[in-house]
Amino acid sequence: MSAIRRLPPELARKIAAGEVIERPASVVKELVENALDAGAGEIRVELLDGGKALVLVQDDGRGMDREDATLAFERHATSKLAREEDLDRIATLGFRGEALASIAAVARVALRTSDAGGRPGTAVEVEAGELKAVADAAFPRGTRVEVRDLFFNLPARRKFLRSAASELTAAAKLLTLVALGHPAVRFHVVHGTRVILSAPAVAGLRERVFQIFGKDALDRLCDVACAEGGYRLGGLASKPPTGRPDRTRQHFFVNGRPVQDRTLQAALQQAYRGLLERDARPEAFLFLTVPYEDVDVNVHPAKSEVRFRDSQRVFGLVVRGLESSLRGGPRVKEIAPVSAAAPGPGRGTGPATAAPGFRVEEGRPAPLFDPAGPAPAFPAAPRVLGQYLSAYIVAAGDEGVYVIDQHNAHERILFDRFAEARTRDRIPRTAALLPLLADLTPAQVVRLETGRAALEEAGFRIEEMGGRTVALKEYPDLFGPEAAREAFLAALDDMGGEDKGERRDRVLATLACKSAVKAGEPLPREKMEFLVTELFGLEDRALCPHGRPIMILMERGQVEKGLKRQPV
Ligand code: ADP
Ligand code: MG
Repeated sequence: MSAIRRLPPELARKIAAGEVIERPASVVKELVENALDAGAGEIRVELLDGGKALVLVQDDGRGMDREDATLAFERHATSKLAREEDLDRIATLGFRGEALASIAAVARVALRTSDAGGRPGTAVEVEAGELKAVADAAFPRGTRVEVRDLFFNLPARRKFLRSAASELTAAAKLLTLVALGHPAVRFHVVHGTRVILSAPAVAGLRERVFQIFGKDALDRLCDVACAEGGYRLGGLASKPPTGRPDRTRQHFFVNGRPVQDRTLQAALQQAYRGLLERDARPEAFLFLTVPYEDVDVNVHPAKSEVRFRDSQRVFGLVVRGLESSLRGGPRVKEIAPVSAAAPGPGRGTGPATAAPGFRVEEGRPAPLFDPAGPAPAFPAAPRVLGQYLSAYIVAAGDEGVYVIDQHNAHERILFDRFAEARTRDRIPRTAALLPLLADLTPAQVVRLETGRAALEEAGFRIEEMGGRTVALKEYPDLFGPEAAREAFLAALDDMGGEDKGERRDRVLATLACKSAVKAGEPLPREKMEFLVTELFGLEDRALCPHGRPIMILMERGQVEKGLKRQPV
């Protein structure tokens, strides 16, 4: 008997759907792209339970007539591609004619649409790929698609959906990207009754960045523009030397489509080499326009990857475009390596706690970790020899020579102190003299919903001010006001974590990271001694709260053996 069987159509449909639709955010993506392709000036998105219960997208685009409204749900039915040659010049976001069919195969879908051609509108209902109803329905020009109970007929898949908060975060990120790519379109996004994004149509990218990320973000960016042959690059990118701590704000668009692409990422990195502060990464919203025939967008069902015909050319254009746009900005001084200082008098008898308080901001001591407190009783801390490359403390003990990462070490110390203060509910706070306002991104708004308790336990008091603005009424007494706001936003960005304890630790790790000395900071001897003493007073000092190593040890035996000396 033959081993190969044809899959029943229903099963085949479900499998194919899974390639396009992975989670609620994929539904949002496909529906919003359809709205944009239909020429919408206004797009409204409503979500329930992170999109698991409902994704609704309504637009005021050109709509469909009755025939198209039913045909739209058939696989490979599209108005955007007619002949094979068209595949070489795709100007729309969609073209595969799979999205509606895929969504309808794995959810309950209700569509209303009208092309305002003098006829009534149409309502269509499809459930698990079966057409349930088609009827006339009054509707203004445009289309509304409601997708309920995603994967209700694929329990295995449904089980893999994350919490409502995670799914919502993914959708919010996606919508942020789409909104950045289409400043002339009004976006209004709500989750239940909460407005996540309300962005009226604006003139251009600058205004959109301002709407979504606020004035501070805009101040950090400069315009990028250049053209070569039929290729154009435009957008906004970090003004050196200020960058961001991570790559989360590097967004690339090719012919209006948000994409993830190694070539573009590498070009960005290359253009900023040596321009940013140590450990900083560029922030960028880059829009590349290339002739349609020079880019293949049909690489992946989710259409988030592209293939360039000539990626070398793209790389060169982006590097040159950025370089010429950034020229004139201040260059970061190369940080001169500082060789390890000669051994000092050692820690001697004076306890390291005589060191002056650490300053998070110039002129501001950090009272939470007052080094004048009792010294930990660990006499065995190695002796500081000096600082290497402004980033490492070199110290020697009986067991050998340590090279200690100053930032990771300080982070570990602060984290442990902080965690201890929290368990005793004794995190000191400062009341803000003037409420510190922070404008949140849609993704940050979402994370605040789940992460609020963790942030409040860490010393922030947060009040909603309407829209996406919050006021910090209190903050941990460890930061000055500006640094407190920055740390708060960073904590929101890093939040993640499905469980409460995990979220709490992440917040503390971020705060510790933000207030710890940085790599590249020259440290006076007392600070180094303070750090080493504190570090060796900890039981667990192998890894920083983010899991990076804190120090390496070259054992005494290795030194002696390497130099062919007898042990002294
Ligand atoms: P694709 O976008 O790849 O063509 P879809 O399955 O997403 O495939 O949509 C199928 C067709 O349905 C589209 O080509 C378009 O003609 C029509 N359509 C879908 N959504 C809309 C909308 N919001 N407004 C107008 N037409 C739409
Ligand atoms: Mg589509």
